[in-house]
Amino acid sequence: MVDLSRPSAPRIVAVANQKGGVGKTTTAINLAAGLVECGCRVLVVDLDPQGNASTGLGVEDRDWTTYDLVIDDALLEAVIQETEIDGLYIIPSTVDLSSADIELISNEKRSFLLHDALRQTGMDAFRFDYILIDCPPSLNLLTVNAMVAADSVLIPLQSEFFALEGLSQLMLTVREVRQTANPDLRIEGVVLTMFDNRNNLSRQVEKDARDNLGEMVFKTKIPRNVRVSEAPSYALPVLQYDSGSLGAMAYRHLAREMLQKHRKMAA
Ligand code: ADP
Ligand code: MG
Repeated sequence: MVDLSRPSAPRIVAVANQKGGVGKTTTAINLAAGLVECGCRVLVVDLDPQGNASTGLGVEDRDWTTYDLVIDDALLEAVIQETEIDGLYIIPSTVDLSSADIELISNEKRSFLLHDALRQTGMDAFRFDYILIDCPPSLNLLTVNAMVAADSVLIPLQSEFFALEGLSQLMLTVREVRQTANPDLRIEGVVLTMFDNRNNLSRQVEKDARDNLGEMVFKTKIPRNVRVSEAPSYALPVLQYDSGSLGAMAYRHLAREMLQKHRKMAA
């Protein structure tokens, strides 16, 4: 029987912030795991040449990568890999992807390559509910490809000094992508990461973010939690590594908050 509650196309969310070390990869991996716990089928696309999402999800075989998908028109069947977790899939990346930015410049369709690749025939068969794209720490052509391919942009904001700085540049890029290539691109939300309630600065960043960005900021905050930072060395999301940890609970919560928002939008 056809499941009418299943959207015909996966929702594509780009996890982006041009700052490094703010929790993009951690959020992509663990939000994906949280969505899987809610019964979703999820694909993580590793769009960072550092390949941290691939390592964090235990990928060993990197013969076929995002580079092949974006630059060489590889088939989805060739590049999508299963992970240890049922319902969670990944397209891994390697350092090869770092040259893609330059190789793309001369391509007429340079901003649309990921968009087209993720919509090739054959995608339906995977029946993904969500595709999360882990972006590199830059507003380069790869990140633009992610924004052109995506329905929305999810922005991790590290609860630290200067957190909000740089956000305007990111928003400017979103606006440009809307004007040129993807008019329907939404901001999925801003999620506060590495939050430390005992730290005045964390609380100040939260206040500034909520004052300035309002509803755009997710209610769920991700606490700074050592289990979150340990999990990648065990090649697991924190939800599997330590299911009862504060970090795992927060990402589970974030997944539910996002799902609830999407259900409301679809109703
Ligand atoms: P990005 O992808 O934006 O560069 P990462 O997700 O790789 O950032 O996070 C940067 C570092 O911070 C990593 O070492 C990661 O393990 C750690 N980290 C991320 N989120 C948390 C958290 N909630 N608690 C503790 N450490 C975290
Ligand atoms: Mg990263």
